[in-house]
Amino acid sequence: MQTVCCICSQIGDTQPHMYVLSTRLDEVKGIGSALFAKLQRRGYTTVKDLALAVPLRYEDRSQTTDIADLAEGQLITVRGNITHARNFYKGRRSMQSATVSDKTGVVKLQWFNNPHIISSIKDGEEYFVSGTYNAKYKSLSQPTIERVFDRHGEKKENIHTGRLVPLYTTTIPLPQGTQRRILKEILNHLRIPTDLELEQMRLLEALNEIHFPTTADHVVAARERLALEELLTLIGRSRAIKKKWKELHTAPQFTIPKNHTDTIPDSIPFTLTGAQQRSIAEILGDISKNVPMNRLLIGDVGSGKTVVAGIACNLIAEQGQNSALVAPTKILATQHAQSLAKMFPHLPIALVTGGRKPLTIPTKPTLFVGTHAVINQLKHITPALIMYDEQHRFGVSQRSAALELEYMPHILTMSATPIPRSLMLTIFSHLQLSVIDEMPAGRKPTKTWLVPEKKRESSYHWLADELLTNKAQAIVVCPFIDPSEHLAFENVACATETFATMQQFMQEQHPELRLDLLHSRQKKKEQKSTIEALYAGEIDILITTPMVEVGLDLKRASVIVIESAERFGMASLHQLRGRVGRANQQGYCLLFSNAHNMTSKKRLETFSKENNGLKLAELDLTNRGSGDLFGTTQHGFSNLQFADWTNLELIGKAQKTFNKLPKHWKPLLREGVTQQADNMTLAN
Ligand code: ADP
Ligand code: MG
Repeated sequence: MQTVCCICSQIGDTQPHMYVLSTRLDEVKGIGSALFAKLQRRGYTTVKDLALAVPLRYEDRSQTTDIADLAEGQLITVRGNITHARNFYKGRRSMQSATVSDKTGVVKLQWFNNPHIISSIKDGEEYFVSGTYNAKYKSLSQPTIERVFDRHGEKKENIHTGRLVPLYTTTIPLPQGTQRRILKEILNHLRIPTDLELEQMRLLEALNEIHFPTTADHVVAARERLALEELLTLIGRSRAIKKKWKELHTAPQFTIPKNHTDTIPDSIPFTLTGAQQRSIAEILGDISKNVPMNRLLIGDVGSGKTVVAGIACNLIAEQGQNSALVAPTKILATQHAQSLAKMFPHLPIALVTGGRKPLTIPTKPTLFVGTHAVINQLKHITPALIMYDEQHRFGVSQRSAALELEYMPHILTMSATPIPRSLMLTIFSHLQLSVIDEMPAGRKPTKTWLVPEKKRESSYHWLADELLTNKAQAIVVCPFIDPSEHLAFENVACATETFATMQQFMQEQHPELRLDLLHSRQKKKEQKSTIEALYAGEIDILITTPMVEVGLDLKRASVIVIESAERFGMASLHQLRGRVGRANQQGYCLLFSNAHNMTSKKRLETFSKENNGLKLAELDLTNRGSGDLFGTTQHGFSNLQFADWTNLELIGKAQKTFNKLPKHWKPLLREGVTQQADNMTLAN
């Protein structure tokens, strides 16, 4: 292994060469075919892949310490002359040693199994030496060394020592030193022909500052530049989709009655809210055209998205075509099929679960409801409309399946995840938006309490009383199935233990209550019979995991207990809370948490006072420093590498910049982020 110089100076090549972002890594000096194969296996194929693999962190080796001032255990960098470099054996172990001295003292250097290092050292030359100091032996073990001056006596640009040094993730199959050298080689010869002069630094400079920063502030500025580039790419992508989409004239067209309330069948047992009716009108307006609909239907948990979707399907079936509803879980798919069958008794519904065998398609126009199994069958179903429920659960690959169709169907994506309007307008402009911002009349806000641990027993008595008096059901949710072996998760509640303790308590105190346990590691059969018993009202308290987050529509459920509530994102908590009080009875949400830090407590208190999902999202935005209220994994669009959805300021800046971009502008980060836009749509 070469330890000292940059690759090009070692090779002594004077031929000018250059790289662009799309250059394959095997064309980069210092990467042979074996190394390239390894990199490729991990997904690093082009210069861009490595250049965008930003450091995990930086080690500050910029300050040098006088040898006289070294202290035990400190990670230090000294600058001095290395002498006495030698190889020797200790038993069968190959060892290397040297000494480094400055004006104030001498320190021993030691390596194991690293004979190359000795041959690379020029005796008496000046080096930066970084490592951890051992005071007892007055030595540094396995230090990183790097010459201060190059062959010509010029001050070298250091990459391993004497500066902020980047440290990379170990998923890149390169030793840290090699990676730094390769990146230096790449960045020294990289050209970005379409690099734009913006208010910010150029992209090339940003990449240089990300890997080899001048100062910590430069890292911040560089990251912002990359974030901006990422947002510009997304905006560009979204606009392109929007344009292309408008040119499509492939979708089946339907005739819509003048008065859209005529599409609402009498079998629906309630009056639709104004917001539901407005959404229906918007959706029907879309499917009356042959330009495929690409609409997002957002509404808080329990706002009644299903019936809105059902009305579209019903009309489509009446006019002779199929539609498909894709749900994230089997439980949810089954429930959709059942509740839609009740509301639309004349609509043929087929439940599709599992299996890749071609479906037998009924002759009557049908609504197909299922999990991703439906997606596998799209070619057979040829739906006029595809609906995705709880869109944040879907991966890209599943969604792009519709692209294989010979026509473009109408697409409706339903989500309870509130997406700030500014984001929608700026970044996802290719999607139309319908918002159900009104709850069905009579719906009572769920009362939410943060219960201190010392009141656990009394809350159990209260729970028993509530269930017995109102013939109600309760759901208890724990983050884990089993106790975690990780120390960090020692106090996190798990379903099996909670079930055991609650079972014991209730048997002694309220033996008439029936408890059961449901989790994903149980046999499918067992899960199925538990769910059936639950719907049949044979279970009073269900102890389970977040698997029920979007899955249960129990009319009699009035209490949800969330254990270790601090472990859940706001969006998840809100989803869970939406599982109770669904038939206009008073719902209760009890939060237990043994988190002691103020941020978590405050977050849960905020949550217990606010019942509106959109408001919670806004609070999340205004409380930015306060942590990850809507943890990124909760979002339907989380795979951003640099930008941050909550940074509305940068998003605004990106929009302004985008509008000023010259015609020849091309998104430079293309593949990396475009998944994002695709994730929100099916177009390509
Ligand atoms: P979500 O938007 O969370 O998917 P659902 O569509 O599951 O909500 O509706 C929640 C419950 O509210 C269902 O039981 C549904 O039948 C009922 N519902 C929907 N719309 C209304 C309404 N306008 N009035 C009364 N109940 C309604
Ligand atoms: Mg729903």
